[in-house]
Amino acid sequence: MITPAFVAIGSNLGEPPRQLQRAVSALATLPASALQQVSSMYRSTAIGPGEQPDYLNAVALLHTALEPDALLLALQSIEHAQGRERGERWGPRTLDLDLLLYGQQEIHSSHLTVPHPRMHERDFVLYPLREISNTSLVLPGGKDIDYLLEQLPPGELEKLPDPLRVQ
Ligand code: AMP
Repeated sequence: MITPAFVAIGSNLGEPPRQLQRAVSALATLPASALQQVSSMYRSTAIGPGEQPDYLNAVALLHTALEPDALLLALQSIEHAQGRERGERWGPRTLDLDLLLYGQQEIHSSHLTVPHPRMHERDFVLYPLREISNTSLVLPGGKDIDYLLEQLPPGELEKLPDPLRVQ
């Protein structure tokens, strides 16, 4: 069965634009999957500890026959290939890939929570998600993307003009 899966991409180390482009290219070669769409890049202020460089963020839509666990493993192997080391929580990172949504499934296992638990409060997730989803994207639980965007406090997210290449 083919399931639409939205993946958040973030980087604030090691030339973030290059990290995002490499991640998109890697997502395009995942087995049993087809990369459908990628949002613009957005610049956001880091929310982690201490002084950190700004993040670049984007969201991609895959159609995949991978089960959620297999997809998570594939995302983690892309993170590792791009030099991700697991440091402190919310510390700087060359690449962070989060599985935001997997169809309408709700998953609560020891290593995977979907929908991603903090996506509702993050402008750098919701704006790019809105860009590549249709207006009526409804999350498991019944809230739609436009409602979630209305609930966000004003922020300083900046949409960048340079597109990510999908191929
Ligand atoms: P992070 O440091 O933000 O990349 O978190 C990675 C950890 O979060 C891994 O141990 C994953 O098993 C776990 N995790 C739980 N839910 C998700 C999700 N929806 N997407 C990515 N990682 C997740």
